[in-house]
Amino acid sequence: MIGPIILFVLFVISTYFVVKPFLSTSTGVTNPVQDNTPKPEELQKISLLKQIREVEFEREMGITVEEDFQRIRSELVEQVGGLLKRQGKSAKKGSKSLSGTTTCRHCHKSVSPDDKFCGHCGKSLDKTRCGTCGITVVPEAKFCSGCGAKQV
Ligand SMILES: [Zn+2]
Ligand SMILES: [Zn+2]
Repeated sequence: MIGPIILFVLFVISTYFVVKPFLSTSTGVTNPVQDNTPKPEELQKISLLKQIREVEFEREMGITVEEDFQRIRSELVEQVGGLLKRQGKSAKKGSKSLSGTTTCRHCHKSVSPDDKFCGHCGKSLDKTRCGTCGITVVPEAKFCSGCGAKQV
């Protein structure tokens, strides 16, 4: 009676270890080109959910100890969460969020393109204004005509 159960369990375990490295490499590599195609992520999500069910099953069968079960399951849940987060992000903001951020030309920290002043260094983000004193300068000017500050 116990023979087929052991065979099945071995099959499930071997499937898990065959699939696992494939999944971890595909999640580790973030390819921006593939961001617009949600299909692989959807497939990944399905296979992760399948794996969660498998570890739950293995635990019920008593072959996975509680400690391993918690660790494996939380890893899988985390990966699913990451996938859902990415999907939600791209669905909400689309490609705008990817190209929407810009960096401050003074301190090089990320700022919103709508910002008039940098939230990190407080300097003007308007290219036609001096970052130090705020007077209007020509975009190609190397130094401010008002305060002499170097224009970035
Ligand atoms: Zn700044
Ligand atoms: Zn100035």
